[in-house]
Amino acid sequence: MNSPKHSIGTVFDPVFLQHVAPISHPERPDRLAAVVQHLQETGIWDRLKMLKPRPATYEELKAAHDPLYVDRTLDRLSLRRTGYLDMGDTFFSPGTKDAALAAAGGSVDLALAVYAGEYESGAALVRPPGHHADRDTAMGFCVFNNTAVAAHALLRAGAQRVAILDFDVHHGNGTQDIFYSDPRVLYVSMHQSPLYPGTGAADEIGVGDGLGMTANVPLAPYCDDVDWLTGLERLLLPLIRAFSPEILLVGAGYDAHHLDTISTQQVTDAGYAAIAQRIVACADAVCGGKIVMMLEGGYHLDALTRLQPFWPDFANRGPHGQLGPLEARPGDDYFL
Ligand SMILES: [Zn+2]
Repeated sequence: MNSPKHSIGTVFDPVFLQHVAPISHPERPDRLAAVVQHLQETGIWDRLKMLKPRPATYEELKAAHDPLYVDRTLDRLSLRRTGYLDMGDTFFSPGTKDAALAAAGGSVDLALAVYAGEYESGAALVRPPGHHADRDTAMGFCVFNNTAVAAHALLRAGAQRVAILDFDVHHGNGTQDIFYSDPRVLYVSMHQSPLYPGTGAADEIGVGDGLGMTANVPLAPYCDDVDWLTGLERLLLPLIRAFSPEILLVGAGYDAHHLDTISTQQVTDAGYAAIAQRIVACADAVCGGKIVMMLEGGYHLDALTRLQPFWPDFANRGPHGQLGPLEARPGDDYFL
């Protein structure tokens, strides 16, 4: 895994910058531009294997979404106007249709390529994000659920066990909803609670055939690196190891960073590096390192560049990859 030949498939395209809010908004093109600029300045960009995204097909989208929702959404986006898809803040602009379709289609192709061994791991640097979009609703800046669409494509390709680990500071209600009764997909999440969207309680564990295939670690405001790592190491990663997935999709959001004002979490650079290190080690152990990082939230431009440690070759380059001391403290077991 740490070979210098480690190949990282990466989805990025300028089309993702054409999705623009009508007024000042935290989910803005600058987010992806900052990530790309950072990768270029550190020399990493030239070593990534770029995968040009194509539009998701109707069949791919309706595997995760209600066909009526897909029809209605594509109709509205085809007007190439500006507005909102929901009652809240899921905006669209003339470029949103192409961006949303490419985000989902690129995520599908990347996941299938990593699953097939064409790349050792993958990173989907896409907008709009996806994890709040449920079967029939756009919400929380999300149009199509890129991760869920990719997971369904993996199942159609023959995968029998797909794990999704979501560490965005917001609960991925849409992803959870889409797979809530599906025993083939394990969905586990850490997130702040209370916080938007208000779901993700510890007793939300799936239903029917999917009972036990969902796990949530809601964290109180002002939790820090040790809290996040404790939940990860003591609950979420053991569940993934027990499930033994064939591939791990990671909903990577960097909005629990202490600089990100959308939450009150206090995760540091070292904390994100440690989170990435443990997730990558878990994927190495259970699914041959087949891991695809799907970008979700993260609204502080510097904090967003902390995704770098997901790529083992580069984990120790620059200050973001240096792990600080993470000592366990008395009382850290409070949620278990
Ligand atoms: Zn978020």
